[in-house]
Amino acid sequence: MDLYSGLPYWIAKNSLYDYFNPLEKNYTTDVAIIGSGITGSLVANQLCKAGIKCCIIDKRTPSTGSSTASTALLQYEIDEPLYKMAKSVGEENALLAYRSCLQAITDVENVFKEIGSNPGFERVPSVFYASNKQGREIIEKEYAIRKKHGLPVKLLKESDVKKQYGFDAPCALMNEESAQIDAYLASITILDYYMKENKLELFTHTEVAKCDKKGGGYELSTNKGHKVKCKYVIIAAGFEAGMFLPKQVMQLTSTYALISEPVDPKYIWKDKSLLWETKEPYIYIRTVNGNRIIVGGEDENFHDPVKRDELLRKKTAKLEKKFRKLFPDIPFKTDMAWCGTFSSTKDGLPYIGEWPGKKGIFFALGYGGNGITFSMSAAQMICNSIEGKEDERYKVFGFERDMK
Ligand SMILES: Cc1cc2nc3c(=O)[nH]c(=O)nc-3n(C[C@H](O)[C@H](O)[C@H](O)COP(=O)(O)OP(=O)(O)OC[C@H]3O[C@@H](n4cnc5c(N)ncnc54)[C@H](O)[C@@H]3O)c2cc1C
Repeated sequence: MDLYSGLPYWIAKNSLYDYFNPLEKNYTTDVAIIGSGITGSLVANQLCKAGIKCCIIDKRTPSTGSSTASTALLQYEIDEPLYKMAKSVGEENALLAYRSCLQAITDVENVFKEIGSNPGFERVPSVFYASNKQGREIIEKEYAIRKKHGLPVKLLKESDVKKQYGFDAPCALMNEESAQIDAYLASITILDYYMKENKLELFTHTEVAKCDKKGGGYELSTNKGHKVKCKYVIIAAGFEAGMFLPKQVMQLTSTYALISEPVDPKYIWKDKSLLWETKEPYIYIRTVNGNRIIVGGEDENFHDPVKRDELLRKKTAKLEKKFRKLFPDIPFKTDMAWCGTFSSTKDGLPYIGEWPGKKGIFFALGYGGNGITFSMSAAQMICNSIEGKEDERYKVFGFERDMK
């Protein structure tokens, strides 16, 4: 699948993790992870820490799938507001999803504290602002439910937004528990660490063409005819996981992003906060290095990469226009722009765990705007399952929710 085009900033900023190690013979391990992006890397981190023997297989150069294109905002707030999600999946389940995302941000932070290397993880506040008068209602309902359940949130009035952030919005929600990261660097940092520790085998440029149940475990067949025997398989294949799923659970869409040339840091708004809005499709804004600005959004409900790429210039111009409307005084000039495949699910939640009736094959599909925090939860949940531990998050992130 053509996952992105244009020039994602991270692939230009970081040096390529130029590792080439195709699988050239049959191989046996306990756990085979398909995919070396941020999800596969976080899963490997969890398994290696637990002393579980595992390998990663990827058809590309390490971590050059969607993780390279990610704008990598880490928020506990899911695309679907809590008050709306509470109506579709029940208040208790919706809260569990929100609390898991909140915890996942700290857990991601801890992964890199333990490894001793920081891939651009930075704590920054998040400001969710009302785009217009209709947005005010969303903000007020959302504030009420988050406050009721003790989630971190502050309500900002129109004058607070103007005074503190310098733009016009009827009101906003703010929390100080969010973060941002470089997802590509995060992923290769983990891979490099565990390979150097001799705890992880990474096979690159090796496509898994088939996954069959064999005896008490699984047998993967590669495009070159080699076999990988394992007890468990973990599908961390991102938006290309469809071939391993008995039924499609996601809608593939297209999304756009750009990064500015560096600006004088004096122009950057309060605390480098993440900014996003109530209107759909929303735009979102973050900073990098305290002087570049990323603007993303303008999503389209189709996946066709040719159509998606044709729109890149038009979408870049739209994102620039929206940014300039918000911050007319910032001298904003696009440096790089890119577009990518994205995916949403009908309830805004990921799919994590075994397909009912298919034991031993786990999916780690963090679809939606919180892909990375969902990946963190997926890594913990799947590791817990392999170790025979229960995990209540399956109630809300598991496939069973669709089978009821
Ligand atoms: C423009 C953009 C902005 C985003 N912004 C955010 C954000 O702000 N916050 C957030 O949390 N998320 C965001 N996301 C989503 C996030 O980037 C994804 O959820 C995340 O990168 C998915 O990581 P992954 O490891 O699951 O997938 P990938 O990075 O795509 O990795 C999957 C890997 O699996 C490999 N693979 C697939 N099939 C096979 C096969 N058959 N055999 C072998 N290997 C295979 C691929 O080669 C690939 O390397 C954004 C995404 C995009 C595109």
